Amino acid sequence: MHTPPSILIIYTGGTIGMKQNPKTGALSPFNFEQIEAEVPELQKLGYNLSTCSFDPLVDSSDIMPDFWVKLATLIADRYHQHDGFVVLHGTDTMSYTASALSFMLDGLAKPVVLTGSQLPIGMIRTDGKENLISAVEVAAARSNRQPMVPEVSIFFQNRLYRGNRTTKHNAEHFNAFRSYNYPPLAEAGISIKYNHAHIQRPLPQQPLNIHTHLDPSIGVLVLYPGISPQYVQAVLSTQGLRALVLLTYGSGNSLSQKWFVDMLAQAIAKGLIVLNVTQCQAGSVDMDKYDTGLNLKKIGVVSGADITLEAAVTKLMFLLGADIERVELISRLTKSLNGEISTPQTLQD
Ligand code: ASP
Repeated sequence: MHTPPSILIIYTGGTIGMKQNPKTGALSPFNFEQIEAEVPELQKLGYNLSTCSFDPLVDSSDIMPDFWVKLATLIADRYHQHDGFVVLHGTDTMSYTASALSFMLDGLAKPVVLTGSQLPIGMIRTDGKENLISAVEVAAARSNRQPMVPEVSIFFQNRLYRGNRTTKHNAEHFNAFRSYNYPPLAEAGISIKYNHAHIQRPLPQQPLNIHTHLDPSIGVLVLYPGISPQYVQAVLSTQGLRALVLLTYGSGNSLSQKWFVDMLAQAIAKGLIVLNVTQCQAGSVDMDKYDTGLNLKKIGVVSGADITLEAAVTKLMFLLGADIERVELISRLTKSLNGEISTPQTLQD
């Protein structure tokens, strides 16, 4: 007889854990220790479930990097006691948290599945119950005694995505998340069908190595027609700025006006790292395609390839927090650390 999988459900906050007061109609967090009373279906799974709640609970719009440190540390502390982890999280910044965890939990060999909901779990039409039950199933799923999805993922509506490829794309619909540049890891219908070829496998015998030093000295500059030299200068002269995500047009193109290219070139010469990320949701930066992209490449702007904004922001914080030289940092920025960008290998698949 084998022991049932042990899953830790961590409730951090967000809509999923709210309950409507029948008298006032207002939403407030419910006591998550009672989750099995609230979602009795969970018992039928026959798993060994443990729960814990953050104190205080957070609306995910308030999340700062110290929250990721707390969450990653909790998972690392309980890593050997459980077979998988489900993180209940607000949807607003779920993709940022999933991306951050994917870099911080180096050598992860167990599932960490984030989920949440658009409607609180106590509401009749809630999407929270299905999301939670499926997320727990994914966290417990095994094949040949190995975890089926040993990576940081997001389960929402009927799909499981690689966490650091996701973006919240809809504020109202139940299918709130998308992964434009990487296929889903699984789809839930009558059963959950896993997309084995696209699931990452850890290197054998690699221990979990948690990185908790993040440096948030970064900025994001969105290009738009009419952007002024004063605005760009103000961003570039932000005190302590070490890296900038430049959200460019199409395949990584920017305005080619001399003032813009000169300002950026000067900032790079002084040590700023500039990562080119496209404003398009799908597709990749290719700075060789147009002169307007080539201008950026010539002054040392780094290509973000098909990275999402969420993964770019957290990858930069992670790499700036690591004790590495600039050349090494730029080299790692252009590589896939944990499946966050497509490499020639992933593109072939
Ligand atoms: N503002 C909420 C949050 O992100 C929305 C949600 O939970 O979906 O925490």
